Amino acid sequence: DPVYLNGQYLPLADAGISPLDRGFLYGDGVYEVIPVYSRQAFRIDEHLQRLQATLAGIHMTNPLAVDDWKTVIFKLINAAPWDDQSIYLQVTRGADNKRDHAFPSPPVAPTAFAFASPLVTTPAETRATGVAAITVPDLRWGRCDLKVISLLANVLARQQAVEAGCAEALLIRDGLLKEGAASNIFVVKDGVLLAPPKTQLMLPGITYDVILELAESRGQPLEIREIAETELRAADEVWMTSSTKEVLAITTLDGQPVGSGRPGPVGERMWQWYQDFKNTVMRKG
Ligand code: PLP
Repeated sequence: DPVYLNGQYLPLADAGISPLDRGFLYGDGVYEVIPVYSRQAFRIDEHLQRLQATLAGIHMTNPLAVDDWKTVIFKLINAAPWDDQSIYLQVTRGADNKRDHAFPSPPVAPTAFAFASPLVTTPAETRATGVAAITVPDLRWGRCDLKVISLLANVLARQQAVEAGCAEALLIRDGLLKEGAASNIFVVKDGVLLAPPKTQLMLPGITYDVILELAESRGQPLEIREIAETELRAADEVWMTSSTKEVLAITTLDGQPVGSGRPGPVGERMWQWYQDFKNTVMRKG
């Protein structure tokens, strides 16, 4: 199945990018990951809006109009053999003929790349037990709201989690829970759902927004506010959310059980609401 690169559809093996591409040299680019269920891209408008916002945040113009992105995504989905997929999009500031931190002047053509892969879902057994996580200091830069490809701090945090036998690393900055290395984090205390606010120190997750909408529309008590590390450790429930993880309970934190040590009722309910919502949206098309 083909990948998309700069206006062309071609086999992955034929998709070449210059070694002077600024994505390679500086991590100077942006990306998106869009889940596809039954060959329908979920929340595609929101993902493309976030792509636009991130591009604006790094002073780039979008190389494709929204409808052109939709065409690319549609073609990739339909050329791929799987019903459930993950679409990856990446745009970089392109390849200059010299290496210089400042933007190429005159500007060069950006690099736009997209490909489909099978959606990797969480097995029911893992959902039933929940996963383990560690906390680590948040060493990232000051614009974590931008979905940029410079992910070294996230990579190191996730690797530290894996080496500790854990699924995720929760990032703590100034004593506050921000998010996971590749997920947003929610906490439940005494039946109230707590969500860290959208600031420049957290990625505004597409799944995070769905969770807030579901909580509000279904009467789940919700507080959007900063969560102290001490509150995280005293939580009844902790969950991670992302486009591919959906809603996944964290039942062990730094080797200690979270609440009962098993996935809790608020998270279970939210997972079910999320499935219902997904199925409703996808059926409507
Ligand atoms: N936070 C970070 C740092 C991420 O990389 C991601 C994406 O995987 C998320 C949160 C969740 O975002 P979304 O729900 O849009 O997948």
